[in-house]
Amino acid sequence: MKDCIFCKIIAHENPCRMLYQDDLVSAFQDIHPVAPTHLLIIPNKHIPSVNHLQPEDEELVGHLFTIARQLAKQEGIDQSGYRLIVNTGSNAGQAVFHLHLHLIGGQHMRFPMG
Ligand code: 5GP
Ligand code: ZN
Repeated sequence: MKDCIFCKIIAHENPCRMLYQDDLVSAFQDIHPVAPTHLLIIPNKHIPSVNHLQPEDEELVGHLFTIARQLAKQEGIDQSGYRLIVNTGSNAGQAVFHLHLHLIGGQHMRFPMG
């Protein structure tokens, strides 16, 4: 998708610290981390938000979670705990309209976040 910053990251047109990439998903460091570990895991296919998911995307969404689990272990936060966040729409503060899973950890977090 033209003009999508995450599509440009996937295509290596925008710089980032890429940590994982396969045919379906990419994972890289968030540019403004809110915790010691803050990664974004995204589908390579441009899906604007959860509102745009189709039944045929179920395997892809499952893969996002499996890779999140793998990266949490790689980052050494699988036992201490972590949070997976998917912001959807304006009330949730979604800023980038390319579906992404935030993987956040490395410190204690309160819930709810407000
Ligand atoms: P949202 O609020 O849409 O769920 O989160 C978007 C996230 O993308 C934010 O945490 C923001 O810091 C991150 N972000 C925005 N632009 C870029 C970028 O160009 N590169 C990287 N690595 N992260 C970005
Ligand atoms: Zn995109």
